Amino acid sequence: MSNTYDCAIIGGGLAGLCLSIQLAEHGISVVLFEKNQYPFHKVCGEYISMESWDFLARLGMPLNELDLPIINELGISSEKGFMLNHQLGLGGFGISRFTLDSQLAKIAADKGVEIVQNCKVYNVSGSGVGNRRIETTRGLFESKIICGSYGKYTPAFINSDPDFNKTKQSESTKFIGVKYYINTNLAANRIELHNFQDGYCGISKVGTGAYCLCYLTTAKNLRENGNDIKQMEGQILYKNPLLKQYFTESEFVNSQAMVISNIQFQKKQTLVNEIFLLGDSAGSITPLCGNGMSMGMRASKLLADLLIPYFDEKITLGAAATNYQKAWDYAFEKRIKSGYYLQNLFGKKNTTDIALRALSKFPLLMNKLVSLTHGEKF
Ligand SMILES: Cc1cc2nc3c(=O)[nH]c(=O)nc-3n(C[C@H](O)[C@H](O)[C@H](O)COP(=O)(O)OP(=O)(O)OC[C@H]3O[C@@H](n4cnc5c(N)ncnc54)[C@H](O)[C@@H]3O)c2cc1C
Repeated sequence: MSNTYDCAIIGGGLAGLCLSIQLAEHGISVVLFEKNQYPFHKVCGEYISMESWDFLARLGMPLNELDLPIINELGISSEKGFMLNHQLGLGGFGISRFTLDSQLAKIAADKGVEIVQNCKVYNVSGSGVGNRRIETTRGLFESKIICGSYGKYTPAFINSDPDFNKTKQSESTKFIGVKYYINTNLAANRIELHNFQDGYCGISKVGTGAYCLCYLTTAKNLRENGNDIKQMEGQILYKNPLLKQYFTESEFVNSQAMVISNIQFQKKQTLVNEIFLLGDSAGSITPLCGNGMSMGMRASKLLADLLIPYFDEKITLGAAATNYQKAWDYAFEKRIKSGYYLQNLFGKKNTTDIALRALSKFPLLMNKLVSLTHGEKF
């Protein structure tokens, strides 16, 4: 294995893997570092907006052969138990991250990407093209350019602009995510979002197997319940009668919850320390919009469409960086803002109930709200 590459990618989630495949297809040498070993689970609702179907298929994902549930019905319940039903325009499909990320890693490796697993990047140094060093738990690598797709947690070696992080994060803007797989009685073409105090829980089918039950709530809710997940579920989530029914009448495939903490939703930056950022590293959307994965994949396409002409010596790196920033803002800024405002309508006993009852009478308005957080097929 040579340790010198055209492009190094830090983080092998959807954004990094999709970028690596597109670059490798154009003969660009790519190394991708992933701190875990494929296949592995991720806390994620595992509902992917249909906008990404064609893109994933073009990269080589055999989606048509996987018999995936196609989801075109949405149900949203309030804590008081009111259910809004809505037909989704574009809709989505369900696939586990365990399957999706590992299959993409295999496609990437087949296309010539050097995938270095069990490998954490802990520092990058050097500046300018061709002079970048990546320090990892598996040795030193060199590459012309570096891309960061390390996800929601910014590593210490990324010195992001303090202006982007100056808002003091309170406990109510820090979230935890919890996921289980369950066997339950829910139509395979339906996704449900159930509200509870300061949180919401999505349930939908993934692949041919079980259903993914995944919820987001504040760190405060957990702390006030003695950091005990089960107690919090009993005390808070069960107040929504529909959710209580799922928890008490479904078979839990994993009784132990998969949990992640310290989640925040904000726009970050697209270039830091001369590192191109994509996926959650550049900014994340609230999961109720069910669209972070598609945003990460779309960002990989925006970036690949600029890095390929750069490596073909058709544009400068500076032009690639400027145009990537513009393309990113154009594609996502409105969605992230809409997601943020919509999140404020969720997780509140009375406000959410009133909003859902009103929206249930205006399906066209619902269509508009859903479309604000989704993009066209790409
Ligand atoms: C509770 C919850 C539910 C969600 N539900 C949905 C949903 O239903 N639909 C949807 O579209 N989106 C959903 N999302 C959002 C979605 O999970 C993310 O937007 C998506 O995973 C982002 O992909 P990514 O490639 O940017 O990051 P990730 O998938 O997080 O990948 C980053 C990778 O980088 C690796 N890494 C990190 N640091 C290093 C390092 N220093 N060295 C090497 N490797 C490193 C990590 O191990 C990880 O594999 C949800 C998010 C949450 C929190």
